[in-house]
Amino acid sequence: MSLQKCDFCNTNFKWKVIYFSLVRSYKPIQCDKCSTEHLVTLPSRSIVVGLTILPMLIVAYILSSYNDFATIMISISVAFMGSLFTPFLVKFKRT
Ligand SMILES: [Zn+2]
Repeated sequence: MSLQKCDFCNTNFKWKVIYFSLVRSYKPIQCDKCSTEHLVTLPSRSIVVGLTILPMLIVAYILSSYNDFATIMISISVAFMGSLFTPFLVKFKRT
């Protein structure tokens, strides 16, 4: 697993920068070095959903017969843990 590099100058993007782009509904990333703007690709958006919303719904469904509060907390934790991996998997394209 590796983090995305700048399309133009090959500078590595930081995990934090990519993560916050995804959190802020796919805000474009600007390269630190050359200021080239990058946008998340469409398939990457499905990867993000597949690692966060999907496992969250599955866990919520499995646990739904138990305590409501625990179900919500566990489901949110699952989505959060999944989201930590998304910066390694999403791809960005130069705009
Ligand atoms: Zn760059």
